[in-house]
Amino acid sequence: MTTSNELSRCVAQFDPQALPVSAAQAIVRQWATPIAAAERVSLSDALDRVLAEDIVSPIDVPAHDNSAMDGYAFNGAALADAAAAADGSVTLAVAGKALAGHPFTGDITPTQCVRVMTGALMPASCDTVVPQEQVEAAEDGQSIRFAATTLRGGANRRRAGEDLARGAPALRAGRIVRASDLGLLASLGIGDVAVRRRLRVAFFSTGDELRSIGQSLDPGCVYDSNRYTLLAMLRRLNFDAIDLGVVRDEPAALEKALLTAAASADVILTSGGVSVGEADLTQHLSRALGDVAFWSLAMRPGRPMAFGRVWSGGRAGVGDPALFFGLPGNPVAVMVTFYQIVRDALLIMAGATLQPPPVLHATSATSVRKRPGRTEFQRGTARRAADGRWQVTPTGSQGSGVLSSMSEANCFIVLAHDQADVDAGDIVDIMLFDGLI
Ligand code: AMP
Ligand code: MG
Repeated sequence: MTTSNELSRCVAQFDPQALPVSAAQAIVRQWATPIAAAERVSLSDALDRVLAEDIVSPIDVPAHDNSAMDGYAFNGAALADAAAAADGSVTLAVAGKALAGHPFTGDITPTQCVRVMTGALMPASCDTVVPQEQVEAAEDGQSIRFAATTLRGGANRRRAGEDLARGAPALRAGRIVRASDLGLLASLGIGDVAVRRRLRVAFFSTGDELRSIGQSLDPGCVYDSNRYTLLAMLRRLNFDAIDLGVVRDEPAALEKALLTAAASADVILTSGGVSVGEADLTQHLSRALGDVAFWSLAMRPGRPMAFGRVWSGGRAGVGDPALFFGLPGNPVAVMVTFYQIVRDALLIMAGATLQPPPVLHATSATSVRKRPGRTEFQRGTARRAADGRWQVTPTGSQGSGVLSSMSEANCFIVLAHDQADVDAGDIVDIMLFDGLI
């Protein structure tokens, strides 16, 4: 059991007024413990779930040697005999036919062959398939002739166990099950798998100015968009997203929402109320309910953020703990902070083995202003230039409230902590949204 001061000690090693992104990522990961609970689900419900067990292949896949082509199966020894023949050709009598699912059960001699279709079981004593395009068939279809030099013994045959051998690890625990994995599991005859319980993430928006869709927009008010982006980002990761609505900037309401969230979820995400002007209220509350640090990240967008734990019993160590992320209020800052700081921690908690999203190099089409001492995640549009290289252009206004800059973009332009201004033509790192978002 961790004590309430541990997080504060952990954070004290850094300047919370300018916490580097890499330090925040490391702290957050350190505090993310995988949930232990697992359950069995059928294959059709396993997509995007996290495997809780290693999958060892119970059979050879394919189970038997079979033909990789439509053609004729024969004993490859005939090729050596043909080398001696005057014109180097092989002539074989067609003894029968084998289709996928309909094997040829007879015996053949070295001068015979069997007409086979792709996937057909290799007939006994056959180890080679000549593709139908390479043969000259007699008019009566009773024999074929082909040039021996075009083939080697064993050609066009798929070996038993070639895809997966019996006893070999097919998928590891921690794997997020994707479409190909479902197919792979089915090919092993496995109908259900052990997966981790889905991570439960409760989230709410804070702010007296927020209005829900359908309400009238009074002067100074905005529609609550963060709850929808959060919902979508959580669903994409297949988490159980628990929407707790909009909470007013009022101590009793905030406390109630935090306690409800801690009791029902593994993780609490909130947006708004952590900036300097507003933090007092949330700070006071979340510190009282648990162990929470307030950070000013050396990052743009998304400077203010709170991180820690909140306990359902209303005091550190009492009741159930939930990991707490207090995200900034600005809509772009919410998304960027989620992807760059929160996402990995949630995946770890869900039991997943992290697969860092690929970072590509791209030529910057324009100059970009950048101050050293903070990591920037600008929104950009990347495309392949005529020379085949990636080229990226920042999308419009980079203000942290301008959500259209995210919608128009297809990547983050990642400008590292120590990096200064970028000139047009310089190489920058980009992180494509596809696969991330
Ligand atoms: P805050 O961090 O609470 O000071 O909010 C910063 C800015 O983000 C303000 O302009 C808020 O109106 C805006 N904001 C906060 N929460 C939301 C939300 N849920 N949806 C849209 N905008 C928000
Ligand atoms: Mg606010």
